[in-house]
Amino acid sequence: MSVNIKEMQIAGVEDLLAEDPEDIPIYEPADIVAEGPEDAFTDESEDFRIPKWRPGAKIAVIAVSAAIILFAFIWEAAYSKGQAENFMNDPPRARSAVQDELGELDWVTQAFLPVNVYSRPGELLRSVNGIVIHYIGNPGTTAMQNRDYFANLAVTKETYASSSFIICLDGETLQCVPIDEMAYASNNRNSDTLSIELCHPDETGIFTDETYASAVRLTAWLCSCYGLSSGDVIRHYDVTGKICPKYFVENEDAWELFKADVEELID
Ligand SMILES: [Zn+2]
Repeated sequence: MSVNIKEMQIAGVEDLLAEDPEDIPIYEPADIVAEGPEDAFTDESEDFRIPKWRPGAKIAVIAVSAAIILFAFIWEAAYSKGQAENFMNDPPRARSAVQDELGELDWVTQAFLPVNVYSRPGELLRSVNGIVIHYIGNPGTTAMQNRDYFANLAVTKETYASSSFIICLDGETLQCVPIDEMAYASNNRNSDTLSIELCHPDETGIFTDETYASAVRLTAWLCSCYGLSSGDVIRHYDVTGKICPKYFVENEDAWELFKADVEELID
């Protein structure tokens, strides 16, 4: 239907629209957009705008990201180098309060091994979750002889072995490795346990009363420090099945008695 201008003037726009809605001009979205993006977005559509990157901003983001990554690499390299130098110049020392307390005990003799990959790697323990009891396996030898054997591994390089403590036939208690460093005694439990080697007079592996008493005292003392119970005291045998400590593996009652004696002394 065609609209005569004259009629429009007479009838008025309202009347015309009411008569024939087909004549209402329809704006396509394309027409609106063509007028400029600002007009195409109402308040409601504001959130759906996709920001356009300016080329300068893109380059800036890439440059900053690259700088951060480069800095991380440089920092990591410098940190590793620093760690290595610290280790060479200043081998890790005891960092825990427990070591300070141990140093005060008149019944513990400190005879630390030199830092070396065969018996004292210098690695810090992350936590202490247990105490592992061993027997030295070399009848009649003293704590100091065994300590020297561990120290000499740095030269002989024949194996990897050591122990946090060694208790002698006469009950003397030697500490070979600082309390917060790893010793090589208990295989896969080296990293979260402390180890105590016990000397013994003969092949049966039975301990002297002095060795036994010192072992109970030291084990209980360590349990008290680390909040452990006698249930956290284990034999090397419980880790790997090795017959160690021989007497406590072959005499289960003696082992249970040892743990009960330790429990009694724990604070
Ligand atoms: Zn053992």
